[in-house]
Amino acid sequence: MLDRELFDRLPEAFEELERGFDSLPPFDAGVPGAGRMGEVLRELAERLGDNYPYFHPLYAGQMMKPPHPLARMAYTLATWINPNNHALDGGRASSRMEKEAVAGIAAMFGWTTHLGHLTSGGTMANLEALWVAGRLLPGKRIVASSQAHYTHHRITGVLQLPFAEVACDARGRMDPNALEDLLRRGNVGCVVATAGATAIGAVDPLPEILELRRRYGFRLHVDAAYGGYFTLAGNLAPETRAAYDLVGEADSLVIDPHKHGLQPYGCGTVLFRDPAVGTLYKHESPYTYFSSHELHLGEISLECSRPGAAAAALWATQRLLPLTRDGEFAKGLEACRRAALHLYGKLRDDAGWLTAFEPQLDIVVWAPAGTTTTAVSRRSQEIFERAAANGLHLAVAHLPAAFFAGTHPQLRVEQERMACLRSVLMKPEHEGWIDAIWDLLQKSSR
Ligand SMILES: *Cc1c(COP(=O)(O)O)cnc(C)c1O
Repeated sequence: MLDRELFDRLPEAFEELERGFDSLPPFDAGVPGAGRMGEVLRELAERLGDNYPYFHPLYAGQMMKPPHPLARMAYTLATWINPNNHALDGGRASSRMEKEAVAGIAAMFGWTTHLGHLTSGGTMANLEALWVAGRLLPGKRIVASSQAHYTHHRITGVLQLPFAEVACDARGRMDPNALEDLLRRGNVGCVVATAGATAIGAVDPLPEILELRRRYGFRLHVDAAYGGYFTLAGNLAPETRAAYDLVGEADSLVIDPHKHGLQPYGCGTVLFRDPAVGTLYKHESPYTYFSSHELHLGEISLECSRPGAAAAALWATQRLLPLTRDGEFAKGLEACRRAALHLYGKLRDDAGWLTAFEPQLDIVVWAPAGTTTTAVSRRSQEIFERAAANGLHLAVAHLPAAFFAGTHPQLRVEQERMACLRSVLMKPEHEGWIDAIWDLLQKSSR
């Protein structure tokens, strides 16, 4: 069940890697504790078994997706060198790979020039984008929707920038009227639009937001940490497609290869449309390795040491599966969305469940039927636990009851938020497992 490609293919690559250092006099690196390594590894494997089965299609809960086998191999191979993409002296080859891989991501949005780099994840990438916004527009407010990732508010606290929340519509997308109210009141420096909200996969209406930018003027940051790659999918609803077609109009952009990009954790990306923001990073470090006149990645990043292995893994994955609209990678995303639509359709047509809206991407949220939000919340939690006992792993999300009020006017709203069930169907294999998931779900609700 666990992929074992690594064991077959790594030895040959390893020989090739070693050939690159043929001219060195041989030496043996001492390995402290070598005799006990097998024992500790076995203990580790046993302990790691105490996890949800993220790799299996019956894990259909949180945002967890197994890395591609090639990404695992590339990352592992690179750790024999352990390049540090802080500077060219830390990782010449992997720094080049980082620039190539990041340029590939920028090209998905039509950017031929940009400034950007990999980060440890979406939070760090968003922090960097908002740090730039704050430097360019000091004292101005950062605004994000109530479905934006919770870290935006926290990041603005770290950066000591004023923050305001924008209300969402009944489908969890930023409400342009609420945004305009805020803009009229003034002092908005940067609007954070989300392309693929973490809880529900909603995509903020970029056509309307850009219209407001023309009238009011603000910096636009698009947080596409989760949903960015969906720009390659050929089966988005027209309204979602229209939003994705405008992502390139953003001033900055965040996308997480460790979410939908088949990478192990530790891989986010921040991109700026105007490379001139690089001057904001200017620093003088007495220890920085200046053996080159080329601008190195450490000069355009808030983080210092960064894993070159992450760049190697991303670069290799993109070589294998280019980020094109007609490629295999895009087909995987399309399968995820079909899986979500299939499950959504079954839920919508069954009186035992409440649904709120059709998924824009591959995240489905729903709840067991009930007369009050209190009763629905309790049932959601029960079914979540019973499903897990039956081998189906879902997630619980606490969502505004208003999402369900339009489609289910008889629901009595006792609390603003209601516990619901949530499935992030981010593995292409989910498509073939929806019937099995449905059967287990029905069994768990009886
Ligand atoms: C996951 C996510 C983040 C945070 O990214 P991490 O990689 O978990 O740090 C930010 N924004 C959105 C929309 C996300 O989905």
